[in-house]
Amino acid sequence: MYWEKDVETLSRNKLEELQLAQLIQTVKRTEKSYYYGKLFKEKNLSANSIKSLQDIQKFPFTTKDDLREHWPYGFIAVPKDELVRMHSSSGTTGRATVVFHTAHDIAVWSNLLARCMFMVGMRKSDVFQNMMTYGLFTGGLGFHYGAEKIGALVIPAGAGNSKRQIQLMMDFETTVVHVIPSYALHLSTVFTELKLDPRKDTKVKIAFLGAEPHTEKMRRKIEGIYSYKAFNSYGLSEMNGPGVAFECPYQDGMHIWEDSFLVEIIDPKTLEPVADGQEGELVMTSIQKEGMPLLRYRTKDLTRIIPGICPCGRTHRRIERIKGRTDDMLILKGVNIFPMQIEKKLMEIPDVGTNFLIILDRDEFNDSMTVKVEVNKKYFAGDIKQLENLRKKIAEELKGELLITPKVDLVEPDSIPKGEGKAVRVIDNRKD
Ligand code: ADP
Ligand code: ZN
Repeated sequence: MYWEKDVETLSRNKLEELQLAQLIQTVKRTEKSYYYGKLFKEKNLSANSIKSLQDIQKFPFTTKDDLREHWPYGFIAVPKDELVRMHSSSGTTGRATVVFHTAHDIAVWSNLLARCMFMVGMRKSDVFQNMMTYGLFTGGLGFHYGAEKIGALVIPAGAGNSKRQIQLMMDFETTVVHVIPSYALHLSTVFTELKLDPRKDTKVKIAFLGAEPHTEKMRRKIEGIYSYKAFNSYGLSEMNGPGVAFECPYQDGMHIWEDSFLVEIIDPKTLEPVADGQEGELVMTSIQKEGMPLLRYRTKDLTRIIPGICPCGRTHRRIERIKGRTDDMLILKGVNIFPMQIEKKLMEIPDVGTNFLIILDRDEFNDSMTVKVEVNKKYFAGDIKQLENLRKKIAEELKGELLITPKVDLVEPDSIPKGEGKAVRVIDNRKD
């Protein structure tokens, strides 16, 4: 059941001792980078500033903009010839940032992923189909190395090419997949098109859903379509990539691997720590990295620590499913809206929700929101009244959730463009 029982179930005292020792090492290492070296001098900080884990709060935060401004090598903490791998973020919110790994970093990262996958039941005997983009994006190679470490047979399918994905899945009797949730839904429409039923025609029993926010309802919907168990996988390139936090078999929050990451949750406005269990922005310090360790990295991801102990016996704390990024929040007529609130409502309505898109517009007087929603094909073949009733129902449901009335446009399945990577949920035309 455990990949590394000792580490996964280490007592909180011991875990914190380990974190402190690694934090001190990390601060020593970061000092060697151009960025932190300069910063520590200016602020008179050093490894001696750390006597307890709380002392991390003496150090300033690191942001994506800091990484962009010191692109590409300003944060490396080892001589360049120690580096063996580069990756980059997806660039969802602007210019992509780059990260670097030493051989040790790759080994630690692969081990973390092996830990995640083993935790939910993947074994050496499994056939693992990795439907993530290989290359600069961390989701492909990250999982690939982890799965090989377990000893599974890896099919490096990469992203896209849906018919081939299905063919591979059937020919090689894939048992475990790694997939972006919005792509899992898209792929289900291709199964239907081919007159196949993933529940009967494939042998997949476990899926790892990662790389983009998705609701509990979306997970349940995907599990229903495929009849596999789907586990939430969270990570970001600045902290290696996937393998930062992962659901255990209880599917109630993601264990964040505290032997590798020191976790803080802050109020994104005041930048002060929030009370235990309260929602805020996740901030992390990588305490095992050599190549490019980061201190107090602001992820912009909103979550909270789930209080209490997980029945699985792991002592590493759990974070709740990510609600969205602070930069995802839309403000429309003074109301704050997260795309995930819309997804949550849509997933509750039958025949709706393989894909949706939020479009924001501005005319002379007003801002407006249109939600384009893909609905079951049958609505376009039948009575127009039925379509209108569904449209009204969706508009009402969304109004109840958002407190404003969006315009709702119903469209046929697959009419909203779907790329291979993370789903684009918002188009904002309001910029002047
Ligand atoms: P970018 O920040 O450009 O998207 P990354 O590829 O590093 O680049 O993506 C990391 C981000 O993806 C995270 O900060 C988070 O916003 C999102 N993400 C990754 N996994 C999940 C997940 N399971 N749930 C919600 N969001 C996720
Ligand atoms: Zn658990």
